[in-house]
Amino acid sequence: MKVLVIGGGAREHALCRSLSQDPAVTELHCAPGNAGIARVATLHPVDQLDGAAVTALAQELGADLVVVGPEAPLVAGVADPLRAAGIPVFGPSAAAAQLEGSKAFAKDVMAGAGVPTARSYVCTTEQEAAEALDAFGAPYVVKDDGLAAGKGVVVTEDRAAALEHAKGCERVVIEEYLDGPEVSLFAITDGTTVLPLVPAQDFKRALDGDQGPNTGGMGAYTPLPWAPEGLVEEVLETVLQPTVDELRRRGTPFSGLLYAGLALTSRGTRVVEFNARFGDPETQVVLARLRTPLAGVLLAAANGTLGELEALRWDEGAAVTVVMASEGYPANPRTGDPIEGLDEAEADGTAFVLHAGTRSGADGEVLTAGGRVLSVTATGADLAEARAKAYAGLSKISFKGAQHRTDIAARAAQ
Ligand code: AMP
Repeated sequence: MKVLVIGGGAREHALCRSLSQDPAVTELHCAPGNAGIARVATLHPVDQLDGAAVTALAQELGADLVVVGPEAPLVAGVADPLRAAGIPVFGPSAAAAQLEGSKAFAKDVMAGAGVPTARSYVCTTEQEAAEALDAFGAPYVVKDDGLAAGKGVVVTEDRAAALEHAKGCERVVIEEYLDGPEVSLFAITDGTTVLPLVPAQDFKRALDGDQGPNTGGMGAYTPLPWAPEGLVEEVLETVLQPTVDELRRRGTPFSGLLYAGLALTSRGTRVVEFNARFGDPETQVVLARLRTPLAGVLLAAANGTLGELEALRWDEGAAVTVVMASEGYPANPRTGDPIEGLDEAEADGTAFVLHAGTRSGADGEVLTAGGRVLSVTATGADLAEARAKAYAGLSKISFKGAQHRTDIAARAAQ
């Protein structure tokens, strides 16, 4: 099988790593990729938002499967021309990707499907926003309706700040505050059958103790020893399957990865958000535990034959990933610094390094090229072991101004 992966972050590196370990995969390509992905796949400098260019590349390569990683190309509709050209593609259509592309659309689908989520108002004027804020009271939750790379949501006790964020957006969703721990649950679907993966938790804030600004994610772990028994079955029944059924009923079937961001509140499980793709950094740990070869699963989703697949097999142990970010992330990430110690981090096989914002320099050195730079990942018999191994790997790596959290999975590992 020849596989083409679209994207260039640590999520795509994790996907490429798993695909490269699948004996069914004979050729692996990635566009645009990064310096780490270049070790396992052939890179192509194609604009990932350009559906025609991606389709032309897939045709030229004779790809048997195209996997679209990030939300931006999915929401831009890159999967559509691929499907129209008869190429199996893992990732939803532009219409179905609106589940992530528009918070208001997601709320409408959830209402139609009876999926439990925060009560909300969609507002387009300052007056409406002010009334919605007062209807719910503090803490205030204000979400930009469109894609905002993790920066569109403000949760604050400060009414003025909440209103200020609302004013800066064309259309906002204002909703009730959900208390309780968050869980990310991914499911692979072909539009009918839904196959949940193992739950994971990520760390959105930049600093230890969940302080500092929201980021794309600073680390993740799986499994969740504290999660209630039967959580996956409950979410499959009350969230994932009804959402997939509702989108099919609307004539916009969702095929690809449905990501449910959940809050386990005092009043029950609620959806915080849906994403239309694998989450980063949770993918790094979820795939680290998946034993079933990945390509066949993604192809079955693309071809609508997921129902014929055997149950997924999982590593019984744990996985932890810790993100190394550049100085100034998330506001003003500094780039272009050489990264030292990458081989040393992997030398004894305890950890593996997934690249996010990296590129190869003129002399073959690896340079920082983004806010989140690396995802240092390890597996172990339990969370404590996986965590120790991930941090041991990370300690070998350095670049100017590097920052990371020191408390990823710390509480869960105790
Ligand atoms: P989202 O982009 O919708 O996932 O929001 C980003 C983050 O904001 C979430 O991971 C939560 O930590 C927080 N958040 C979003 N919605 C709510 C809510 N209704 N109540 C509390 N926190 C929220």
